[in-house]
Amino acid sequence: MTNRGPILAIDIGGTKLAAGVAEPGGRLINWAQVPTPHELDGEKICLALEALLVQVLKAAKVDGEAELSGIGCGCGGPMEWPSGRVSPLNIPGWRGFPLRDRLAERFGGSVGPAGAGGAAGAGFPVRVHNDAVCMAAGEHWRGAGRGSRNVLGMVVSTGVGGGLILENQLIDGRSGNAGHIGHVVVDPDDGPICVCGARGCLEAIARGPALTDWAQAEGWRPGQVGVTGKDLSGDAAQGHSVARAAMRRAGRALGIAIASATNLCDLEVVPIGGGLSQAGALIFDPLQEALDAHTGLEFARQVRVVPAALGQHAGLIGAAALIAVAHKYWTGDRPLAAAMEPSG
Ligand SMILES: [Zn+2]
Repeated sequence: MTNRGPILAIDIGGTKLAAGVAEPGGRLINWAQVPTPHELDGEKICLALEALLVQVLKAAKVDGEAELSGIGCGCGGPMEWPSGRVSPLNIPGWRGFPLRDRLAERFGGSVGPAGAGGAAGAGFPVRVHNDAVCMAAGEHWRGAGRGSRNVLGMVVSTGVGGGLILENQLIDGRSGNAGHIGHVVVDPDDGPICVCGARGCLEAIARGPALTDWAQAEGWRPGQVGVTGKDLSGDAAQGHSVARAAMRRAGRALGIAIASATNLCDLEVVPIGGGLSQAGALIFDPLQEALDAHTGLEFARQVRVVPAALGQHAGLIGAAALIAVAHKYWTGDRPLAAAMEPSG
């Protein structure tokens, strides 16, 4: 039996904490956000999050958490999945922070397989997944990927993340990291070193700070501190040649990575969200050119790369999907198939 109560949806990033209450069909009843506290004390960050959650529940007139059908949460990685111990790169106060357990304790939910019995099996489900995975789930459920069975949802912003849906099922992989397209290699010889340590990952070329670093090294606003991807795309739109070249370089890297993913997974649609996707044709034209050049087979040429449709709400709606449409978007508490196989 599915509880058809509302869902508390959460989206945790390095710059803001967002939360909302969603109907089981995915419509947000209300939402709010606050800046992420620059605290090194993880408990204080957690208190700020709890205050935000109490506020949105109250505003949505959810009386008592017992009405909820669950809590879904997207959070910046890396994290241990499905346990929901998070260590977001941009939130240094949380290292191995037991986010899933804490949400369950505070709001009376449960972690672990539904119906498992005991304290862990009582109450509504609480589920935590990577924020880019939630965005992909949101776009597949209610956004640009709606109606398509095979979707790679991508976020291009200070990092490059993604989530993979094949045959209408979110693919998690062994550790919940499937769809991590940011570390697909696109330039192993001449690309920059990535935060992961490898050379030439997509993220090392196409993340916002990598674009501005490259452009500054090539003579765009040399030495200026605090420049953003938005400044760069603004100057590119005005015709600045280095800024345009930086956008072309990022678009090309995205097109190559998407071509590889499409050849591997037979994708139908790739919605792209995040700040850089708002640069429009400056990014999407070189992306499409590279995609065309690297998809030689007829099946792969059918893929469509489109801007994400849900904007800043994709993460919240995807977090709600972890609860509302768990049979598609949450495999975290299924019994491990490997445990049932004979060993040796
Ligand atoms: Zn990498």
